[in-house]
Amino acid sequence: MNIHEYQGKEILNSFGVRIQRGIVAHNAKEAVDAAKKLTEETGTGWHVIKAQVHAGGRGKGGGVKLAKNLKEVEEIAGQIIGMDLVTPQTSAEGKRVHQVLVAEDVYYPGDSEPEEYYMSVLLNRTTGRNMIMYSTEGGMDIETVAEETPHLIFTEEIDPSVGLQGFQARRIAFNLGLSGNAFKEMTKFVTALYKAYVESDSALFEINPVLKTSDDKIMAVDAKVTLDDNALYRHKDYAEMRDIREENPVEVEARKVGLNYVDLDGNVGCMVNGAGLAMATMDLIKQAGGEPANFLDVGGTADAKRVEEAFRLILKDENVKAILINIFGGIVRCDRVAQGIVDAYKNMGNINVPIIVRLQGTNADIAKEIIDNSGLDVQSAIEFQEAADKVQAVLA
Ligand code: GDP
Ligand code: MN
Repeated sequence: MNIHEYQGKEILNSFGVRIQRGIVAHNAKEAVDAAKKLTEETGTGWHVIKAQVHAGGRGKGGGVKLAKNLKEVEEIAGQIIGMDLVTPQTSAEGKRVHQVLVAEDVYYPGDSEPEEYYMSVLLNRTTGRNMIMYSTEGGMDIETVAEETPHLIFTEEIDPSVGLQGFQARRIAFNLGLSGNAFKEMTKFVTALYKAYVESDSALFEINPVLKTSDDKIMAVDAKVTLDDNALYRHKDYAEMRDIREENPVEVEARKVGLNYVDLDGNVGCMVNGAGLAMATMDLIKQAGGEPANFLDVGGTADAKRVEEAFRLILKDENVKAILINIFGGIVRCDRVAQGIVDAYKNMGNINVPIIVRLQGTNADIAKEIIDNSGLDVQSAIEFQEAADKVQAVLA
């Protein structure tokens, strides 16, 4: 689950990671109040107003602006809230901004220039270990750094049995070219950041930029935090951070009925039991020349009610031109599923795309009979390839 920058910073702060201080505001008046409060607390007169949407590259899209006084805070907040922010990471329509983060300006001029670094914490799926990825090239698009100057990206892998070690935190500070107080601050920052990552059950932290201020403080200026959905049950307070306005409406609905659905760009709707089979089905559709419209795991209980819910979700996508149902009857009986499909189909009444059903496993033969005798526009298949070929035939 993705969360907003201000929420990510709340989590970081709760673990002792230094952050750029800020207050979230929903309208221009709240923004001015927030700025006044920040001035009282931090003494800063300048503020940065930051659009809160689930997309990066906000600065480039005009969603991050500096305000020199309260009048500018009001103007800028009023202008950003309600806008459809287009960034390199959004669609061309952009994302509607409902709130801004009013933050202290931490780039105050000093005797030395502030430095920006890049830092992320994530799982290296190849080694099965967490790693900290970091670079001196902060504030930039990390993909560009990876392409043009890959030697400026460092990684530090963490052994899960002992956790992040002191020498590793020091190596990071050293590789970032720090010394003196900034070096110490960075080791503290990294240590707290890694603890926050592990204890919050996060799937990704991306802090770009991490800032070294002119007085050698190290802090998170931005925070992209992705929480692990499967761990939200033990973080009830984080679960409440979900902002469904930022999420795909069909995926939101799927979650409500307990279905595992991911929206994709293709035209073949998929209904499958088991995540592995769902992945294999998507591969087969692609191999046969089609494009899957979704990932959908209906799970072990593919009864009429569930099948109907799944149909409803798939058909919300206007791109769907055919539906492939691929069920392996291991514990669940194929004839039951077939009856469920027929019942759901009749019950819905308005399905006007061809459906190909492949049922394999217990009572597959009876299931095929049920489908074939149903009188509905449903084709059955027993073999996987046969099903994919039939999908291609109806799309051709
Ligand atoms: P992103 O564009 O979505 O990644 O948003 P960021 O939070 O990273 O902000 C974009 C850029 O705005 C940063 O890279 C900084 O250079 C700049 N920025 C952020 N906070 C401040 C601030 O307090 N003062 C100034 N002058 N610039 C800031
Ligand atoms: Mn950023």
